[in-house]
Amino acid sequence: MTELRDLPPLREVIARHGLAARKSLGQNFLLDPNLTGRIARSAGDLSTGSIIEIGPGPGGLTRSLLLAGARHVIAVEKDLRCLEALEETRCASNGRLELLSGDALKVPIDTLGQAPRKIVANLPYNIATPLLISWLHAIDRSPHCLENMILMFQKEVAQRITAPPGNKAYGRLSVLSQWLCETELLFDIAPGAFTPPPKVTSSVVRLIPREKPRAEAHLEVLEKVTAAAFGQRRKMLRQSLKGLFPNAAEVLGDLGLKETARAEELDIEDFCALAQRLSND
Ligand code: SAM
Repeated sequence: MTELRDLPPLREVIARHGLAARKSLGQNFLLDPNLTGRIARSAGDLSTGSIIEIGPGPGGLTRSLLLAGARHVIAVEKDLRCLEALEETRCASNGRLELLSGDALKVPIDTLGQAPRKIVANLPYNIATPLLISWLHAIDRSPHCLENMILMFQKEVAQRITAPPGNKAYGRLSVLSQWLCETELLFDIAPGAFTPPPKVTSSVVRLIPREKPRAEAHLEVLEKVTAAAFGQRRKMLRQSLKGLFPNAAEVLGDLGLKETARAEELDIEDFCALAQRLSND
C-alpha cells in the first residue's frame, strides 16, 4: 500500500486526472507543502475529534493535515473529478480520510464526525462568506459544535472579519463574527502561490468560538440591524435605521448612543443593544 509520503506530486495528480481549474467552483489550488503545512499547524492539536476540510481539490492541504497527525479528516468536495483524484490519498490514509461528495452549503456542519470539530479550509471564494455565516449560525445554535476554524479568504474579506470599530473594513461580517468568535488574521499568501493564481492576495484567519457571545442578542435580529446600518454606511444611524425603528433618533438616545453616529462608530455591544431593542419592540 502507498504511504502518504510516497504519493505522487500534486502536479502529476492534477495532470493525470485532468483537473483543469474551474472558475465557477472557485478553484485555486495550493500545491506548496510548506504553505499547506503552515495552515494545518495553525489549527493546533489534530489528534482528537474530527477535522472538516471544505473543498480539498487535489488534496494538498488534506495531505498536510494527515501528515500533521490528524485523527480523522472529513473532506467535503463538490467536484467529482477531485473526489476521484483523492481516492489514492484516502487509500494511503489508514482509514483517517473520509471523502464526502456534495455541496458544503448544504452540509449541516455540526453533525459531521466527532467533537472537538475543527474546520480547516482554503475556501472557494465565491461562497466563502455564505459558508462562514452558516457556520456562525451553527455556533449560535450550539456553541461547542466547533473548537476552531482556520480559513483562507480573499484578504479583503479576512480584513472585514477581523476589523475593529472605526476601521474602514469594519462591517456586518466583523460584528457577526466577533460577536461569537475571537478572530485573528494569521498570515497572507500571495497570488503566485496558487495554481492558477487568483487576482488578489489571500489571508488565513483563525476563528475560535467564545464560551459565550459578547452580549445578549438573537443572531437573526443582529443580522437585520447590521444589514440596515452598514447597507448605508455613510449615512447617520438615525437615518439608516429608520426602516427598523421609525423613531430611530429616540432609540439611539435611549441606548446612550449619539443620534449623529454612523455604523462604523458602534461597537459590537452597541449593535447587540439595538438588536435587543428591536426584539422587544
Ligand atoms: N483545498 C484545495 C487547495 O488548497 O488546493 C482547493 C481549494 S479551492 C480554493 C476550493 C475548492 O472548493 C475546490 O476544490 C472546489 O471544487 C471546492 N468547492 C467549490 N464549491 C464547493 C461547494 N459548494 N461545496 C464543496 N466544495 C466546493
